[in-house]
Order: sequence, then C-alpha cells, then structure tokens
Amino acid sequence: MKHYSAFAVAREALRYHTGWERAWRSPEPKKKYDVIIVGAGGHGLATAYYLGKNYGIQNVAVIEKGWLGGGNTGRNTTIIRSNYLQDPSAALYEKARGLYEDLSQDLNYNVMFSPRGVIMLAQTQHEIRGYQRTAHANALQGVKTEWIGPERVKQLVPIINLDGPRYPVLGGLWQERGGTARHDAVAWGYARACSAMGMDIIQQCEVTGVRSDNGRVVGVDTTKGAIDCEKLGIVVAGHSGQLAEMAGFRLPLEAVALQALVSEPIKPCMDVVVMANTVHGYMSQSDKGEMVIGGGTDAYNNFTQRGSFHHIEETVRALVETFPMISRLKMLRQWGGIVDMTGDRSPILSKTPLQGCFINAGWGTGGFKAIPGSGWGMAQLMATGHSPLTEAFTLDRFKEGRFIDESVAAGVAH
Ligand SMILES: Cc1cc2nc3c(=O)[nH]c(=O)nc-3n(C[C@H](O)[C@H](O)[C@H](O)COP(=O)(O)OP(=O)(O)OC[C@H]3O[C@@H](n4cnc5c(N)ncnc54)[C@H](O)[C@@H]3O)c2cc1C
Repeated sequence: MKHYSAFAVAREALRYHTGWERAWRSPEPKKKYDVIIVGAGGHGLATAYYLGKNYGIQNVAVIEKGWLGGGNTGRNTTIIRSNYLQDPSAALYEKARGLYEDLSQDLNYNVMFSPRGVIMLAQTQHEIRGYQRTAHANALQGVKTEWIGPERVKQLVPIINLDGPRYPVLGGLWQERGGTARHDAVAWGYARACSAMGMDIIQQCEVTGVRSDNGRVVGVDTTKGAIDCEKLGIVVAGHSGQLAEMAGFRLPLEAVALQALVSEPIKPCMDVVVMANTVHGYMSQSDKGEMVIGGGTDAYNNFTQRGSFHHIEETVRALVETFPMISRLKMLRQWGGIVDMTGDRSPILSKTPLQGCFINAGWGTGGFKAIPGSGWGMAQLMATGHSPLTEAFTLDRFKEGRFIDESVAAGVAH
C-alpha cells in the first residue's frame, strides 16, 4: 500500500495523478479463511482491522452483499460522543472516542474527525435531573462531560432560540471532545488498511447460509459459492435476525428504519453538534455547509432504506422551535437505514450458541460513534475468547436480566 502524504499528493500532481493505486483489492473468494466477517460496515471492517493489527490474524475475509459502507455506516448523521450512563457503555464508547482522536494517523486515511463538541439540550425539569446525573456518572467513569446553563448554550450556539413556545432550553450536557467524522471515510480507511494486510474484502456477495458440524461453525454459503472458516463474525446490523436464523439461534432484536435529511448548503452558522431529545431532532453542519438533521425511527418493522414525508415534517417541525432559522431552508435529500434495536438499547458483542460463531449487533440508532471501540473489543473476543470491553454485552444478559439500560443516552425517540 502506498503511503498517503503531502509529498505523495505533490508527486502525483506532477505526473497528472496517474500513479494512484486502488484503495483496496477486489479479489475472488478463497476456499477457506481463518476468520470470515459477514458485513462490510464500520463494525465489520474495524473488527477485521484489529484482528490483523492487534492479533496478527490476517487470513480474513469480509463478505458484503452490497458495497462496503453502503449500510448504516454510510447513512448516519456521524455524531460521536461517549456520555452514556452505565459503566460498561461509558468504557466502550470512550474507548471508541479515544481511538477516533488519532484514527486518521493510524489508518493513514483522513477520516475527518472533528471534535467540535456535542450538546444534549435539557428542555424539561426531568431532563435536567437526568443529564446532571449523567454528568456525575461520567465524572466517576473518567469521561469528560459537564452540565452547562442556558447562557453557555447560547454562547456555543448563537442561532439557538432559548425561549421556544413549548420547551425552553434549560441547559445541556456538554461533551467538548465529542463531534463528528466523515462516515464513508471511516469505512474506506479501515477497508484500505485491511486490504493492505492481505485480507479479502468481497463485495456483491451475499451470505445465504451458515454451515456447521457438530455444533461448531465450519463455513458459509454465499452467492459466490461455499467458503470455509474456523471462526465467523456476524456483523450485519438490521439483518442480524436473518443471519442468526441461518446459524440456528434467535436474537432479541427488531429492525426498523431510522431516517435523516440534509438541507441545501449555507454559510457556516453552527460549529457544534446539538441534540434536542425532548422535541426530538438533532443537527450539525457538514463541511459542505448542509445542515445534517436526524429524525426518529419508524414505528413499525421494515427493511426499506428510504425516507418518508411524515418524518421530514415531524422532525423539522420539532427543530423549528429551537432553531427558527431552519424554517427558511430547503431540504435537499432524505434517506433511511435499517437499525437493529435491543430492548435495553445496548449492543450485543458476544459468543453465540454455535461454537466459533460470534455476533456484533444491536447498535441501533447510535453505533457509528462506537466503531473503533467495538472493532477493538470484538477482535479481542474473537481472537482470545474474552474481552473486558465486551463482557457485559453478552447475549445471556437477556436471559439473566442483566440489562444495560441506555434508553435515555441513546438519545433517539424509540
Ligand atoms: C439515519 C441514521 C442516523 C444515524 N445517526 C447516528 C449518529 O449520529 N451517531 C451514531 O453513532 N450512530 C448513528 N446511527 C447508527 C449507525 O449508523 C449504526 O449503528 C452503525 O453504522 C452500524 O454499523 P454496522 O457496521 O453494524 O452496520 P452497517 O453499516 O449497516 O453494515 C452491515 C452490512 O452488512 C451487510 N449485510 C447484511 N446482510 C448481509 C448478508 N446476508 N451477506 C453479506 N452482507 C450482508 C449490509 O449490506 C451492510 O453493508 C445512525 C443510523 C441511521 C440509519
């Protein structure tokens, strides 16, 4: 893999950019791999990357039915934060946020991590108490967040209207080193680094079956034929239920569409991320100038990766109270992604009843922020059989009642 650098850009400029090579190879599948990861979203690719980087396991295939990063990873609103309430979540999300800090250098690929700060607005007395509690919990967990009053919110977000007709802004939970990153670049950066280690990323190849022998996984059936493996990682977000069924077990998950939209590009007007969970909407400004706006989940199960008109109306109507200026914006595009929701709104990073088969799912509406930490922990779990980052997130917790309740921190109305 050629190193990307200012020098490389200058060199290529002199030879009309004829020397760039493809960022990743597109090989045909081999007969057998040590590890197969199903799903080339951020979590699947990050798992493969840390298997290679941290454990030297490089005979790995990542199998993707569409194009890499084309699932939720390329459809999300890119908010990164780690201000969760429960200790295992804070540890996992803070590990991820920390890895994001120098992910561009690590991958030699600019993922455009922008720690511009994230505010979660409190607009009811109940939210004030909830966020102050989270700030205290974060202090004990070593996660840097603070409770701020309305004046400070206004200072950080001059376009905000503090005195909304229904819900005035009463303060907020502020995480200064939260922010955003370029979603596609995260997938592309991991893919390029995996390919450079000799791993095969096989796109346009759907896994249609999981093969086992005597309770142990031995391979998968795909649209490009059968492929054997020693270990299998299922990392397919909204399609986890289908893959689990192929592997012979059930998951406590439901799949729903989550929607987002962007406005026309405008001049810079907001340089932090704002989440308004009571009225329900969240917004940041992209580097191109578009206002990136997140809505809610559909109230019914579906697999359509589309938007719907009532969501635009509901989301914009809610946000207009807090940001009156957006009433004059034209909306350019909307879309949906299929998210995988657990009952306690926390992910599943776990061994499964099928030996050698692991599952990474249940990130629901908030898994982009977790990609590096999840990949790190999942790789450790798959390579060694144990990871302190993932041990609370097992499938068994649903049987044993050890829920990790993050329904408030998840920040999206479900
Ligand atoms: C509109 C929206 C906004 C969001 N906003 C945020 C946010 O601001 N911050 C945040 O942290 N998170 C956010 N999220 C959530 C986040 O996007 C997801 O949690 C995360 O991207 C999940 O990544 P993944 O790798 O698990 O899944 P995906 O990126 O969906 O990857 C799974 C892949 O598996 C593939 N696959 C499925 N079935 C098969 C099969 N049978 N064979 C082969 N491949 C298969 C799919 O094609 C897909 O590419 C948002 C999501 C949406 C939809």
